[in-house]
Amino acid sequence: MNQPSTLQHHDLLIDGRRIRPSSGQYGVDLDPADETPIAEVALGNQADVDVAVAAARKAFDGWANMRAADRGRILYKFADLVEQHQEELVALESRDAGKPVGAVRRQDLPAVIDTIRYYAGWADKINGQVVPVRPDALTYTRREPMGVVGIIIPWNFPLMIGMWKIAPALACGCTLVVKPAEITPLSMLRAAELALEAGVPPGVFNIVTGKGSVVGEAIVQHAGIDKVTFTGSPSVGRGIMRGAAGNFKRITLELGGKSANLIFADANIDAAVRAAASGIFFNTGQVCSAGSRILVQREAYDEVVDKLANRAKTIRVGSPAAADTHMGPLVSSRQMKTVLDYVDIGKKEGAKLVTGGERLGSKGYFVSPAVFADVKHEMRVSQEEIFGPVASVIPFEDEQDAIRIANGTAYSLAAGVWSANITRVHHVANALKAGTVWINTYGYTDIRLPWGGSGDSGLGREHGDTAIEDFTEPKSIWLSLR
Ligand code: NAD
Repeated sequence: MNQPSTLQHHDLLIDGRRIRPSSGQYGVDLDPADETPIAEVALGNQADVDVAVAAARKAFDGWANMRAADRGRILYKFADLVEQHQEELVALESRDAGKPVGAVRRQDLPAVIDTIRYYAGWADKINGQVVPVRPDALTYTRREPMGVVGIIIPWNFPLMIGMWKIAPALACGCTLVVKPAEITPLSMLRAAELALEAGVPPGVFNIVTGKGSVVGEAIVQHAGIDKVTFTGSPSVGRGIMRGAAGNFKRITLELGGKSANLIFADANIDAAVRAAASGIFFNTGQVCSAGSRILVQREAYDEVVDKLANRAKTIRVGSPAAADTHMGPLVSSRQMKTVLDYVDIGKKEGAKLVTGGERLGSKGYFVSPAVFADVKHEMRVSQEEIFGPVASVIPFEDEQDAIRIANGTAYSLAAGVWSANITRVHHVANALKAGTVWINTYGYTDIRLPWGGSGDSGLGREHGDTAIEDFTEPKSIWLSLR
């Protein structure tokens, strides 16, 4: 007989209650720092998604038609509760995703709280317009909530990226079926409980945990879901686009990146190298906008490679729970294997591995920060997203050459440019194919600014008022004045 497990059990959260998955099965959630089990998490399936969608549909009218200011008030309360439970959520997120506790405390949680408050403020400002068309009619528009929204979340910023979608959808009056990544579900399960405590009615915010190929697929195919918003890989994004065609779901896709960080010889090199290092090594490189291609003007190339490698060597890789850790493990053994495979590919392609790129220890998914020099634009390590702590440093000759290389991948999420020449930075920023360009800085995001890309980086934008438009449908109304 199997020994009963002592691990904490996490059920699905549907219609305001924790319920067992219909399969009766649970997956084991591992700590990426030491590979020990942390929790057992429900493996949902199609039948569970059906139940969650039914709950979301039932709750829709009440939530969508609530006084908008009341919806906002509940979201403000939700933000307050997240703030009160900040340390608990920091600890959960850090352990589950292997993210350094200091970084989660400084960056993820403040962004989560800011996001909820920002959209709480939007709830009663989603206006229509009176559009004067002819004298014998009153013609106006309303923005109505999209309906039931499926939300599929990745593992690199489970709570923050999740909230980028959840907060505006709730503010607009939509109801939700949320699927966290199977390897990092804990923080979102806890946050949803806090949402209930804040007064979000049962059925408005449902969570079905489980596999992407099962739960994610069921969400994408479901005729009772009106929109899917997804952050993850381009290959899954492509499948979502196809699957959404069944009932013409609206979709928003935030996919990958191979962002170029351009350093001209006249830049403040020390500042550029500092930002370039955090641009690629922050969150162990598992960032969609990671500056994974560092393009350096020939005259400054050797200096940048040297300084970057020295910086990489000083990065403290270690336990996410330690306050002085700069870089934690990769999130999973699969992700570690991908990264180590790319290090081999880069070496075989003839790039020069200046430092790092090795597994550290035998427990946990730690890899030392890697810098490749002499990378050619055509190499796979320059074209393909690695999603790990691997910098490819590529030389360029002049502005035109830099723009050609920067724009020469399938991606277009973000880019950076470093130079003291004000005309040049504007010119280059305009020419770069990217949803976000940082000038003499790198990596900032804010919920008030549009976020997203095109091509393999996705479809549509999140954040700001774009998200409000995205979770609502306009309706035109004619009233006869005759
Ligand atoms: P992934 O696409 O495998 O998984 C993302 C989410 O999709 C998970 O919740 C997963 O369970 C689910 N999923 C998997 N298969 C599915 C399917 N067939 N149908 C529906 N859902 C499915 O991606 P990943 O490997 O977990 O994350 C890394 C990728 O995400 C990288 O390519 C990265 O660039 C991208 N990403 C992009 C952004 C952004 O803002 N653009 C942010 C974070 C990550």
